Amino acid sequence: AVVVGRRVRSRRKWSKVVGVLRELEEGCDTTVARLKQVVDAMAVEMHAGLASEGGSKLKMLLTYVDNLPNGTERGTYYALDLGGTYFRVLRVHLGGQRPPFLEHEVERQPIPQHLMTSTSEDLFDFIASSLQEFIDKEDGSEFSMGRGRELGFTFSYPVKQMSVCSGILIKWTKGFSIVDMVGRDVAECLQEALTRRGLDVKVAALVNDTVGTLALGHYHDVDTVAAIIIGTGTNACYVERADALIKCQGLLTTSGCMVVNMEWGNFWSSHLPRTSYDIDLDAESPNPNDQGFEKMISGMYLGDIVRRIILRILLESNMFGPVSSKLSMPFILRTPMMAAMHEDDSPDLREVARILGDILEIPYVPLKLRKVVVKVCDIVTRRAARLAAAGIIGILKKIGRDGSGGITGFRSKSDSKIKRSVVAIEGGLYTSYTLFREYLHEGLNDILGEDVAKHVILKITEDGSGIGAALLAASYSSYKCG
Ligand code: BGC
Ligand code: MG
Repeated sequence: AVVVGRRVRSRRKWSKVVGVLRELEEGCDTTVARLKQVVDAMAVEMHAGLASEGGSKLKMLLTYVDNLPNGTERGTYYALDLGGTYFRVLRVHLGGQRPPFLEHEVERQPIPQHLMTSTSEDLFDFIASSLQEFIDKEDGSEFSMGRGRELGFTFSYPVKQMSVCSGILIKWTKGFSIVDMVGRDVAECLQEALTRRGLDVKVAALVNDTVGTLALGHYHDVDTVAAIIIGTGTNACYVERADALIKCQGLLTTSGCMVVNMEWGNFWSSHLPRTSYDIDLDAESPNPNDQGFEKMISGMYLGDIVRRIILRILLESNMFGPVSSKLSMPFILRTPMMAAMHEDDSPDLREVARILGDILEIPYVPLKLRKVVVKVCDIVTRRAARLAAAGIIGILKKIGRDGSGGITGFRSKSDSKIKRSVVAIEGGLYTSYTLFREYLHEGLNDILGEDVAKHVILKITEDGSGIGAALLAASYSSYKCG
C-alpha cells in the first residue's frame, strides 16, 4: 500500500510538471497569426514614434547620420565600443579602393562589473586609459602635432542626439546605472576624459551600436537597409526617408535620408505573448515597465526567464527535494549556460545535469526532468527568436520591403523583381546560439513565405558596431562639433 501510495503521489506531482509546461507553451504562443499582429504593431508604432516626440514607446531617435560609408573613406581612425558586457578599442585602416580596403585591429575586455554602477568619471577614466594604453603601443609616425587622431564612440544606450557627434543619455539599460550620467552629453564626457589624460584625440562621431553595424554593413553592401543587435540587449536601426521624420520637419539632410535608431527594446504591444514569468522579471528588474521587448528577447534576460520557470516547476511539484537557494538568485543562470543546456545533444543530457548541479546546485536531476528543462529552454528561445523575426519584418513593412506592397512597395515599377534587402546583424544570440538563429530564420520564412523571405538577407557583420563607428568618424571627420 505504501509503495502504491508513493507511486500515485509521484504521478500526481509529475502531472503538475506537465501542467506548468503546457501553460508555458500556451503563454509563449507565436503562431504565424500572432506574429503578423506583432509585425503590424511594430510598423504602426514606428509611424507613431516618428510622428511626434513621445508618440510611442518606440523612441525612433534621429542619429544625424544622413550618409552611410561607401568605400571611398581613407585614413586611420579609432573606435571605442562600450557595449553591455564588453568594451573594445579598435584601430581601422581605410584604403579607399574598390572593393574597399579595410583592415582593423581590436582589443576586447569585459567591462569591470563595479564600473557599471559607479560614477561617470570612473567609467570614462577607464575608457580613456584603455585608449591610452592602446595608443602607447603604436609607433605613431602617422600622427603628429596638428594632425591628431579621431575616433567614433559606440555607446549602446538610448541617446538623444543633437548632432552626429553629440547627444545626451536618456536612460540606462542592461544593468548599467550611473545616475549622474543621465541627461549629460556622452561625447563631451568622453572628450573631457581624453583631454584630462592629455590625449590629442577628437570624438568625431557618437553612434549607437546598431548604427555602427549598419555603417559597416552598408560599406560592404549598398543594399543594407537596417541593422539589428541581439546580444546582452536588443535594438534596431534603419534608413528612413527624411520626409517621414514628421516630428522634426524642415530637417536638412544631404541625401534625403537619415538613419533612425528605433530603440526597439522598449517596443510594447498587447499582442506580445507575455507570461507571469515575464511580469515577475519585469517587476523585479531595475527598470520596471521599460524595455519590454528586450526582456523577452535578449541575452541579459533569457536565462533568467528559464530560471524562474525551473523554480516554479520544482516548487509546484515538490518532487525533487528542497529547492536550492541558488535557484532563487536573479541572473544566476546566464544565457550562454542556458544555450549550452538547450544544445546538449548527449543521450543522457550530461551537460544539462552538470549545469543544473554546478550553477543552480540542484544535486540530482532525473533524465525525465532534464528533458523538461531542455523543453523550457526551447520554448523561451523559440519565442524570443520568432519575436525578433517579427520585429525585423515590421521594419521591412514600414519601408515597403515586406513583399506586401505590390508594385509600389517591394516590387520595383519597371519589373516585378523583388528588391534585395540586406539586414546587418550582430550580437551573441544570433552569432553564437545556433538554435536561436535557426528559429529566427524559421520565423522569417513563416511570416513572409519562402519566396519573399529569400530576398531578405541577414548578414553577420563581425565587430561591426566598432568598425562602423570608425567609418562614421571618417565620414564626418570634417564636421565641426561642440
Ligand atoms: C540599448 C540600445 C542598444 C541595444 C543593443 C539596448 O539595451 O537600449 O541602445 O542598441 O541594447 O546593444
Ligand atoms: Mg556590442
